[in-house]
Amino acid sequence: MNLHEYQARALLKEAGVPVPDGDVASTAEEVEAIATRLGTGVVVKAQVHTGGRGKAGGVKLADNPAEARAVAEQILGMEIKGLTVDKVLVAPAAAIASESYVGIIVDRESQRPVLMVSPEGGVDIEEVAANTPDRIFRVGIDTRYGLLDHQAMGMAFHLYEDIRQVRQAAVVLQQLYRAFLQAGASLAEINPLITTPGGEVVALDAKISIDDNELDTRPEIAALRDTSAEAPSEVKARDSGLSFIKLEGNVGCCVNGAGLAMATMDLVKYYGGEPANFLDIGGSSNPDKVVAALEIITADPSVRSILFNIFGGITRCDDVANGIVAAADQLSLTVPVVIRLTGTNEAEAVRILEAAGYSALTDMDEAVERAVELAGGAA
Ligand code: GDP
Ligand code: MN
Repeated sequence: MNLHEYQARALLKEAGVPVPDGDVASTAEEVEAIATRLGTGVVVKAQVHTGGRGKAGGVKLADNPAEARAVAEQILGMEIKGLTVDKVLVAPAAAIASESYVGIIVDRESQRPVLMVSPEGGVDIEEVAANTPDRIFRVGIDTRYGLLDHQAMGMAFHLYEDIRQVRQAAVVLQQLYRAFLQAGASLAEINPLITTPGGEVVALDAKISIDDNELDTRPEIAALRDTSAEAPSEVKARDSGLSFIKLEGNVGCCVNGAGLAMATMDLVKYYGGEPANFLDIGGSSNPDKVVAALEIITADPSVRSILFNIFGGITRCDDVANGIVAAADQLSLTVPVVIRLTGTNEAEAVRILEAAGYSALTDMDEAVERAVELAGGAA
């Protein structure tokens, strides 16, 4: 789950990180009122779940409330990387002497959080990684001990020469790690972490992504979810209890069990196709889930064929068959459906499907090959 910048800033502030005040608004009038209240020049920033807002024109400075209102009118409603801006953050504009990058991610390879810092801040860290990889410095964090003082100081020395700034930055790094842990984050970054002309270290941007598996034990973080900023298909999938990830191909996949879903996607690729999605309908026997799954898959215009691959265990094949028939009745399916079912109540499922005019296969290879063929071969 992604947080908005204003939410991430609040979490950093709670952990002690110096962050400028600010407020969120969804109309230009509110922006003007906030700027009046702040009584300084402000920065107006699009709140969407993506970086690169600055480059896209989604971050603008304004000298006075009237100007703030004018830039808000430009930013509200604009599209950044396909996302519509319906909220902006208004904060006092900071004067910038230097910009650096600091971030913590979960590193799968070393199985621990890794702190990364770079004196090349402000720009996309991916760009720095591609062009000047030697300007990014990393240290692994042992979660038993946390980010130790000497590690934080060592990393801060890569950013600054002035010892006062090094000390301030080291504290910020430890506060960032605390916020990262407390939020159950998979990523927490500040880009840019600036120094002001007066020499203070301040966080001007904040990005936090939460590991969804951590949300159950953190209701206050889960409450920060903004479904209006998420892909409708993913919101619907979550509400229906489905694990869904959209991909770029054209074979819509509906499978029970994450392992079988992965194997199905592998096989689609093996036969020269590209899966349009990962979708695990889970282990329950609920025809409604199948209906929801089909609604999500068919809403994707690039889907050219739909492949069901069901291994009946706890999931009963007849329930899935009923779900397919019910969904086909509700939605006017315009793409061909290939169904492979095997296991619990398989014979009953075949009977239901045949009565509704479908045929079911039991061989996985055969079903996948046919679905790829119907989608028009390699995507
Ligand atoms: P991003 O482009 O989505 O990462 O958005 P940022 O919040 O990082 O803003 C992009 C850039 O705008 C920053 O790197 C700064 O150079 C600039 N910027 C953001 N806030 C301020 C501010 O308060 N004052 C000034 N002078 N520049 C700012
Ligand atoms: Mn940024």
